[in-house]
Amino acid sequence: MSTVALDFERTHEWVAVNSYRVRIAAFALMAIPIALHVLPQSPGALFWVAFLLQFAAYPHLMQWRIRACEHAEKAELDNLVVDAVVSGAWAAGLGFPLWITVALCLATLLNHTIMRGLPGILICPAALLSGALASTTVIAFRVSADTDGLVTLASIIGLAIYLSLMGVEFFTYIRRLQEVQGAVAAQKQILEDANAALHEQIRTIHDLQETLREQANRDSLTGLFNRRYLEGTLEREIARCKREETPISMLLFDIDHFKLINDTYGHQAGDEVLRVLARILQDSARAEDIVCRYGGEEFLLVLPKMPLNIARERGEYLLRLFEATVVVFGERRIRITTSIGIAGTPLHSDFAEGLIRCADEALYLAKHNGRNRVVTFGDAM
Ligand code: GH3
Ligand code: MG
Ligand code: MG
Repeated sequence: MSTVALDFERTHEWVAVNSYRVRIAAFALMAIPIALHVLPQSPGALFWVAFLLQFAAYPHLMQWRIRACEHAEKAELDNLVVDAVVSGAWAAGLGFPLWITVALCLATLLNHTIMRGLPGILICPAALLSGALASTTVIAFRVSADTDGLVTLASIIGLAIYLSLMGVEFFTYIRRLQEVQGAVAAQKQILEDANAALHEQIRTIHDLQETLREQANRDSLTGLFNRRYLEGTLEREIARCKREETPISMLLFDIDHFKLINDTYGHQAGDEVLRVLARILQDSARAEDIVCRYGGEEFLLVLPKMPLNIARERGEYLLRLFEATVVVFGERRIRITTSIGIAGTPLHSDFAEGLIRCADEALYLAKHNGRNRVVTFGDAM
């Protein structure tokens, strides 16, 4: 069953229960002064039948109408019009006894304005008047406004009780409304908290994804970009430099006799050497350079917008820097040298694979020629 249907049922039930209580109370309270008023006049059996029908049966009839009708509120609004018509008829039929008429009019007007708002101020008097007119047409028009003290007292007390009952009714209603508002506000707060927690989790997931993406592109030992990253980036960089008609150079480093370092000082010492060299390379790089761990003890430095001759100077500088570096590992002082192969666009190749192959061949020559040197592809090859 949908929420809308449930709400409809609740409204229906609320209107049915409340209007029943209010109508029974109103007509019971009015029956007393009317009975007291007519008793001395000894009305006939027909009057008492009408009296009983009105004050004992009528509220139940109206309740039956509400329950039978699909739209309880609409049925109750119609009932209110009937209330005002019969009240007008009773007031006129009795000759407009002042306090009974006042009580009847005020009670019906109150009901109308509560249920209808401002339009009730027009509809209620119209209905009262039409009831009074119908009554004077059928019975006769007469005015006998005086009521004795007991009837006046019963009318005023009846009206006071009715107004108090309505006050209590609406006090309870407003209290319930406040409770519901409080519950709704609490639920809203819970939802907002859950929403905030969810946003926080989404942010954490995004951060984790970002970290994962970053880790996927990084070498865990040195923190440099890995080969995977290079494969995705180099071709794009070459294309960009080509578009901007600027050269791009590449330096491929290989540590000399690194196996010997591992064998002599241990694998962990070898790792430390890799970390130190990686840091030197990274620290000496420009923002646009790509520093990458290309293989076990091989590093690749991509230098966008750098011509070959300047790249060679960079290579010579780094070669000397590495040569002068002492890697401290425990008690050990480790020195290394490197060999560097250089290639660049557009002279050697316009493609990533071709450029790397050229740098690799230059590196091979550097090794072949005795290591600890820089060779540019094409140099006396
Ligand atoms: P060459 O001068 O000809 O380059 O000699 P090399 O000994 O440096 O070359 P080789 O290719 O024979 O040896 C490379 C060594 O690098 C072998 C391998 O165990 C070592 N290596 C590769 N990756 C790592 C690593 O992550 N950590 C350490 N400690 N050693 C590594
Ligand atoms: Mg190697
Ligand atoms: Mg080597």
